[in-house]
Amino acid sequence: MHNRHTKNTHRYQPRYIKTFLSSELTEKRKQLEEIFTSCSLCPWNCAVNREEDEKGRCRAGNDLMIAKALPHFGEEPALTGARGSGTIFFTHCHLQCTFCQNYQISQENRGRKITPDELALIMLDLQEQGCHNINLVSPTHFLPRIVAALEIAIPAGLSLPLVYNSNGYEKAETLKLLDGIIDIYLPDAKYRDDALAQSFSRAKEYSRYNLSSLQEMYRQVGTLRINQYGIAEQGLIIRHLVLPHHLQNTRDVLQSLKDRLGSEIHISLMGQYFPTQGVLHNPYLNRRLTSEEYQKAISFLEEMGFDNGWLQEPDTVDKSFIPDFTKDGSWN
Ligand code: SF4
Repeated sequence: MHNRHTKNTHRYQPRYIKTFLSSELTEKRKQLEEIFTSCSLCPWNCAVNREEDEKGRCRAGNDLMIAKALPHFGEEPALTGARGSGTIFFTHCHLQCTFCQNYQISQENRGRKITPDELALIMLDLQEQGCHNINLVSPTHFLPRIVAALEIAIPAGLSLPLVYNSNGYEKAETLKLLDGIIDIYLPDAKYRDDALAQSFSRAKEYSRYNLSSLQEMYRQVGTLRINQYGIAEQGLIIRHLVLPHHLQNTRDVLQSLKDRLGSEIHISLMGQYFPTQGVLHNPYLNRRLTSEEYQKAISFLEEMGFDNGWLQEPDTVDKSFIPDFTKDGSWN
């Protein structure tokens, strides 16, 4: 595959600047706060009052929590560039994938509480360090607090594209409130087989929620635009992690993306699957992907005419790819 570069010699202005200047950002934050009081930010619709620190399926309460913030060099090249993607890992997750590589934060809930003011400072610091974007990893369950942080960071000079890095189990209604805030959507498309989603991620109706949310993301930001320096500015990148033994799922995911969004979209076909301790007993998940399986997945891409995006051969990754959130500093 190769990247299609749309030349753009103008300095990109993130979408949130206009939204902030028109006071719409504050309006959106208030709407998200209202949802927070009987939480239905994600498909679980737990209806708990997060303001009162009640916890739902994701186990997040009222306070923002992050596990790590750093310039990250392991993302797609158009996000990483030369100076890294300014990545902020939020604690907790509303999916509970048995094979999660970030299980220390998604399932063991590691991290520290911070205020929106502190999050704003973290964003500005990542910008100061030269990062190409602000990359919000698993942001869904903290959206009102993240938008509150943006209201502080934008007048203080934040001007990097904002990346929404998600497991793809989202509600289109929630995403509609992010229109005019997010520049780059980076969702997963994990499954088209709901039984598999239930078994591996304990998610109901993953496929329906995933497809409707991807369509909403695409409606907002369109096909990925990459500037003359090879850096992504706005658009959609869809990630698919190829699982061992499950090539039919990969084929179905790709076919559905082609049917709904066309073959111009950017796909990141990930071969980095590595079995964590929790799945060593599972005969379907207890080994890495083989080169043959990955080559087969590539052949599906080619047959369907996908020409934009990135590949990641299984041989290029090892156990060090699993981040350790118990250590300080970078694990890149
Ligand atoms: S964000 Fe958390 S509390 Fe809110 S609906 Fe989703 S899982 Fe439930």
